[in-house]
Amino acid sequence: MTKWVYSFGSGKADGKADMKELLGGKGANLAEMSSLGLPVPPGFTISTEVCTAYYDNDRNYPADLAGQVDEAVAQIEEIVGMRFGDTANPLLVSVRSGARASMPGMMDTVLNLGLNDETVAGLAKVSGDERFAFDSYRRFIQMYSDVVLEVDHHFFEEILELHKEDNGLILDTELSADDWKGVIEQYKKIVQEEYGQPFPQDPREQLWGAVSAVFGSWMNARATTYRKLNNIPAAWGTAVNVQAMVFGNMGDDCATGVAFTRNPSTGENLFYGEYLINAQGEDVVAGIRTPQNLTIQGKEEQSSDLPAMEEVMPEVFKQLDDVRHILEQHYRDMQDIEFTVQSGKLFMLQTRAGKRTTAAALQIAVDMVAEGLISESEAVMRVEPAALDQLLHPTLDPKAERNVIGRGLPASPGAASGQIVFSADEAEKMAHAGKSVILCRIETSPEDIHGMHAAKGILTSRGGMTSHAAVVARGMGRPCVSGAGELRIDYKNGTIIVRGQVLKAGDILTIDGSTGEVMIGEIPTIQPEMSGNFGKLMEWADAIRTMKVRTNAETPNDCRTARSFGAEGIGLCRTEHMFFDADRIVAVREMILSDSEEDRRKALAKILPMQRDDFVEIFKIMAGLPVTIRLLDPPLHEFLPHGEAEMQEVADAAGVPIEKLHARAAKMSESNPMLGHRGCRLGISYPEIYEMQARAIFEATARVAKEEGQTVRPEVMIPLVGMKKELEILKALVDRVAKEVMAAEGVEMTYLVGTMIELPRAALRAGDIAEEAEFFSFGTNDLTQTTFGLSRDDAGNFLGAYEQRGIIEQDPFISLDQEGVGELVEIAVERGRKTRSDLKLGICGEHGGDPASIHFCQRTGLDYVSCSPFRVPIARLAAAQAAIKN
Ligand code: ADP
Ligand code: MG
Ligand code: MG
Repeated sequence: MTKWVYSFGSGKADGKADMKELLGGKGANLAEMSSLGLPVPPGFTISTEVCTAYYDNDRNYPADLAGQVDEAVAQIEEIVGMRFGDTANPLLVSVRSGARASMPGMMDTVLNLGLNDETVAGLAKVSGDERFAFDSYRRFIQMYSDVVLEVDHHFFEEILELHKEDNGLILDTELSADDWKGVIEQYKKIVQEEYGQPFPQDPREQLWGAVSAVFGSWMNARATTYRKLNNIPAAWGTAVNVQAMVFGNMGDDCATGVAFTRNPSTGENLFYGEYLINAQGEDVVAGIRTPQNLTIQGKEEQSSDLPAMEEVMPEVFKQLDDVRHILEQHYRDMQDIEFTVQSGKLFMLQTRAGKRTTAAALQIAVDMVAEGLISESEAVMRVEPAALDQLLHPTLDPKAERNVIGRGLPASPGAASGQIVFSADEAEKMAHAGKSVILCRIETSPEDIHGMHAAKGILTSRGGMTSHAAVVARGMGRPCVSGAGELRIDYKNGTIIVRGQVLKAGDILTIDGSTGEVMIGEIPTIQPEMSGNFGKLMEWADAIRTMKVRTNAETPNDCRTARSFGAEGIGLCRTEHMFFDADRIVAVREMILSDSEEDRRKALAKILPMQRDDFVEIFKIMAGLPVTIRLLDPPLHEFLPHGEAEMQEVADAAGVPIEKLHARAAKMSESNPMLGHRGCRLGISYPEIYEMQARAIFEATARVAKEEGQTVRPEVMIPLVGMKKELEILKALVDRVAKEVMAAEGVEMTYLVGTMIELPRAALRAGDIAEEAEFFSFGTNDLTQTTFGLSRDDAGNFLGAYEQRGIIEQDPFISLDQEGVGELVEIAVERGRKTRSDLKLGICGEHGGDPASIHFCQRTGLDYVSCSPFRVPIARLAAAQAAIKN
């Protein structure tokens, strides 16, 4: 016989806390609290297996369920000494849904079930309080009708409001027993009219009606949508809890309330909660009456003049405070609890791990280690890595008023204010003049990088979470709102039109990249505080993790930020961004427009010292930590100007007719640049470019050694290798340049040459490639594009539909596709290490900062992950959690 029903009460329980799958969160914890000897009204849980069986069997219950429920009801009756349906002394129950994870959309709780025209009289008599009895009955009719019979609650609210108006009453508590009787008569009438049948009087029918409503709500539209959005399988099912009622509405020595065992917004170890005297159920959160603070301190902090429970009911408060400590000691975590006080006696109705802000999560984790409740590694597991982001960026002052005029995607966290500018050049110019600007673009492209750097924030009207603007902004740690579609950005007129308002260049905007809000005017922000808790948790994480954490950075600023966040080296220093600076782009374009190798070399010679200085500065900041430099990767036409005026400018500077420029641009244009003349293919066709870059790297290494006495061990990375031969040729070139520089400078240097694995062929042929490569860095952005045959820049148009239809669970550009792309990584790791056992392995795609992907990297045995500077702390924590779990 299957056990469908699990009882709890009077210090015992069939279930326990770790049976959430079977009993749901609420049921499992009611059982646990009961076993702990806490005052829990007796009851039982109908398991989630019943829900599954019910749906598997055409909405029919297992045959032996009714018998088990009857037995469980009898057990409650025995404990409380009252009988369900008894007209003299009726047992009333609550019926509560309870899934594994708390879930909006599920049936609301029904209280006071078991009341009817006869039992209400019995309740009035035994309680000696007629008013209370009829107040309970009307609550029951209202709730039951609403959630089980589906008679909308506004009917009942209207009746009550009218009654109060007619009788000059304001508060519900002012209604007398006779008032309630009158209201109840009208309630019953409306049920008859709207439901077509009288309000059910048989308690057993009521009970099964409520139980079926809970199971029925599992498949309602709202719950189904919520499950989809949160990846909760329908097969989990919900449980139903039936529990003896206790009454917080029986007079002034009664109350109901909710509390957190610690402050959920700061984490401070202070009891924090609210209660209402003479109230039932969720009156506290319903906002009809103003709730009162539990503690005197809470009352003072909120300058409330309503008395605290600590003052009004000191004995009950003491009991509750004891329960608080018992629960924390037992669960070893902050709890969110619900309770009711009946005639001076405390009853516990719910406990669960409390939701908290990130700052509170840190405070609580650190405090609990100090209190000896949890270990350091448990503390490390308690904080959600992605949530750390909240702490690393400025946030809007929560007290400030906001005039929201539009909304987009929360593409890169943090808040920023500044004047509207429409072009990258303008952004740079104004930033140089000391102004704060928000760069507003329809979308951004690689040419806008300098403007994005100069801006305080970036706003686009088009593009998703993985658009150029979003990815680059996250990389730089700039707040960004992307895809704010209702904004009409008009470059020509220099305006943004939104919701009937016209904004002009120079107007002040504020964007919140954590929420996607766009606001008019400047809104004060609060700077992040790298408080002691943050540092401490990071220290524990660092001691636990086995993978290193590096950063993707190419500007001195980003390098410094990353180091302050704890980066242990650079995993990806892209060199193309360095070419876009105003003083270099001319030489770069001259190089591209050259007809002969000789001319190209002339132009490259102008770039060499600038490139060398870049590396010197970066090496100095990184102070001996490893630095991986990727040689030029994008196709050369990306560096050519686009507008006619700019074309002319370049033509003039290079002393060539503009036609020649047009012809060259046309010749270079590619139908599929992502798969075109880029990466090592450039190095093969124009070895002089890579030669210049290698020279800059080694000369910088030599200089830093001489000037700073610092040993730098550069790692030269050749992009987009698919064949061993490509790497063989380019590695020979790098080695030759290294030798030349060492001879010329008279110094010894050690360095590595390796490749990015970003093509499926490279992953498959990793065994050969490792004969040349001393390290692999998985470029998972491109590897994802090339494995799926899917362009990241275009995927936004349809990936949403793929997610909705369940074809993919997550955007593979955000979280690594562990099955497909992951298998290629595993193959490359295995084959690469087989050839070269000390092959250094890392990841440098966007995924290097994604916690789920970091777990994958740990399992796969990578040596390090590399991510954008602002993700470094997230990666440190995620790597520690991955080490604990594996
Ligand atoms: P939710 O999941 O929305 O919190 P609950 O099932 O916890 O719903 O019920 C909401 C409230 O109803 C509880 O916080 C409590 O105040 C009240 N309640 C539930 N069961 C009982 C009971 N047996 N006796 C008294 N009040 C109850
Ligand atoms: Mg609850
Ligand atoms: Mg790449």
